[in-house]
Amino acid sequence: MDGTFNENDLSRVVEADRAHVWHHLIQHKPFETNDPRIIVEGKGMRVWDQKGKEHLDAVSGGVWTVNVGYGRESICKAVYDQLMKLCYFANSAGSIPGSIFAEMLIEKMPGMSRVYYTNSGSEANEKAFKMVRQIAHKRYGGKKTKIMYRDRDYHGSTLAAMSAGGQDERNAQYGPFAPDFVRVPHCMEYRKHELDGAPEENFGEWAADQIEQVILREGPDTVGALCLEPVTAGGGVIEAPEGYWQRVQEICKKYDILLHIDEVVCGVGRTGTWFGYQQYGVKPDFVTMAKGVASGYAAIACMVTTEEVFDMFKDDASDPLNYFRDISTFGGCTAGPAAAIENMRIIQDENLLQNCTDMGNRMVGNLQALMEKHKVIGDVRGKGLFLGAELVVDRATKEPVDEKMAQAVVADCMSQGVIIGATNRSVPGKNNTLCFSPALIATADDIDQITDAVDGALGRVFG
Ligand code: PMP
Repeated sequence: MDGTFNENDLSRVVEADRAHVWHHLIQHKPFETNDPRIIVEGKGMRVWDQKGKEHLDAVSGGVWTVNVGYGRESICKAVYDQLMKLCYFANSAGSIPGSIFAEMLIEKMPGMSRVYYTNSGSEANEKAFKMVRQIAHKRYGGKKTKIMYRDRDYHGSTLAAMSAGGQDERNAQYGPFAPDFVRVPHCMEYRKHELDGAPEENFGEWAADQIEQVILREGPDTVGALCLEPVTAGGGVIEAPEGYWQRVQEICKKYDILLHIDEVVCGVGRTGTWFGYQQYGVKPDFVTMAKGVASGYAAIACMVTTEEVFDMFKDDASDPLNYFRDISTFGGCTAGPAAAIENMRIIQDENLLQNCTDMGNRMVGNLQALMEKHKVIGDVRGKGLFLGAELVVDRATKEPVDEKMAQAVVADCMSQGVIIGATNRSVPGKNNTLCFSPALIATADDIDQITDAVDGALGRVFG
């Protein structure tokens, strides 16, 4: 095999894939008889598979990534030009796109100041975890090493990121995990009945107060940081209720705890603001991001922090241990920031944040209208173009539908040429939430096509 192939001979690609590729997040047994799906091409909101079938992509590349849509010539050109000029140099030196993108990004993040480039979202989170640990050693005599994370949140696939993972079913069989990661309860209004003592009123404040209870139990002088998704993604599209974020901020301040917001999914426009935390008036100490930063045109992830944190790593230059002793090889790739600059310009020039809000509202309206017709939809939730519809057997008990039924809805939509989310886990082990995250360029017709497909699928699957 010399790597050449005839574009028309996609059967060869399918065979090579079947023989040699190990796909993410998927059981391979069915591929012994069925063809794996190969996505060949994309334009705007649509992709084409190896059979030439067109799909409307309602999940931005499967995992909330291609925020500005496929086939953007200006991004490709920016990447090409940059790669011809300089493809890579380790980020212990700077680069032109790395510097310019950092400046653009910080302009969108008042209060933040420093950008640390990494290989992936998981690693961006681990950089913040490592900084918290280093600060604990520098400032607090080795105390304050604990990092709190929330039930149902996800922060990545590497072992320390998994140690901060709130979805038990994802972690089963991969332990033991790293020490000093401490779980706090979820804040999901729809499933608050699962939480002992959750009140009818002011649930947001109560849920935040549970974090304080954990801090007091662990000892405030042992807790260094709290890591949260602004809107929980893979855990079931969970937006925190009114009152939650303000209390979280107060609690962090009270106990001198750094607040780490994981924007790997929400970052760069997905919720209708540049960052999800900006919807709630939060002032973070660390913000991590990946997927939408360059819409998948090139790999880029980063961890952003304040000048105050940054200063802690340069205050004593004569101490050889007093700097952040860390590197990510591909943090020095220039294609990522070159693509990210153009990605951000497109979002700005095409007013896509506003479109995201408008189309998100339209989609919520459409899904709510479907609730009238399909009793199986128990809840519609999310922010901007980051939405979920939870399927339940009974609205009163909120018992989740069997995962196979939700998968049947996804498969039915697929047969109609609409890719909706592989269902997410709002109930541990039950993938019962349909997930929608079309690109921010979605039109009203696209949104209607998606919800029409869901309408048809629910009718066929549930009758
Ligand atoms: N945080 C969140 C909220 C995520 O959804 C993900 C990826 N799904 C990650 C972190 C990890 O990112 P990556 O896969 O780039 O390591």
